[in-house]
Amino acid sequence: MTPDNLTKREKERYERQLQIEGIGDEGQIRLRNTTVGMVGVGGLGSPVGMYLAAAGIGQLIIVDDQTVNASNLNRQLLHWQGDLEVSRSKVDSAANKLTSMNPNLKVRRHAERIDSSNIASLLDDADILVDCTDNFETRMVMNDYAIARGKPFVHGAVESMHGQATTVLAGRTPCLRCIFPRPPISKGQIPILGSVAGAIGAIQATEVVKLVTELGEPLFGRLLVVDLRDNCYELIRIDRDPNCSVCGRLDERTINSGDAI
Ligand SMILES: [Zn+2]
Repeated sequence: MTPDNLTKREKERYERQLQIEGIGDEGQIRLRNTTVGMVGVGGLGSPVGMYLAAAGIGQLIIVDDQTVNASNLNRQLLHWQGDLEVSRSKVDSAANKLTSMNPNLKVRRHAERIDSSNIASLLDDADILVDCTDNFETRMVMNDYAIARGKPFVHGAVESMHGQATTVLAGRTPCLRCIFPRPPISKGQIPILGSVAGAIGAIQATEVVKLVTELGEPLFGRLLVVDLRDNCYELIRIDRDPNCSVCGRLDERTINSGDAI
């Protein structure tokens, strides 16, 4: 493997996506050279990780402090019955499957809960961050770090039969705090159908590929809201809040988004 060329095996493996206008060899090499930081390897993290591994992303940093339990198995496709029986950690379970899917993939695993004190040490090497968490506080820790460091941040969330996604880029788009300035009222355990998480996770993985290859138009400044119960898909324009506590003071001229990718 050389830094500037695809090997014969890579050309074979990624043949069908190399044909997409805007990817090609150059885009594939960019994917190989990209590190993605994922927090959460559950319902969203499973499809995000699997599709990024399949697409030839070079490295994943996965962060999750949980072990596999029975109620994960309706949606968290990286975790199987055998993992449940040995109480395997989710990061070990995920890393095993993802590197089996694609042996070219490097996975760094952290069985920790992320917070504002450790996020920099865990995700400093990530070029792009993906929100695969299930709680508001962790999302906001990721959001604030992404804004502070100018790293693109792909948000996704699901509940019951609906979900949402957007892509945040400091200085260019609203951040999650602009959209959700206050935490939601806690509902305890939320219902979720696995395939709905799969749909949103697939969109998040596609956003990552688009950011890396500069293909198409990411969900910048737009919140995609999907209700699969009735098949309603809405793309809602969202604006920056000039008084946002995190991104309100950013000036576009001070941030070169191209450096972040
Ligand atoms: Zn903001």
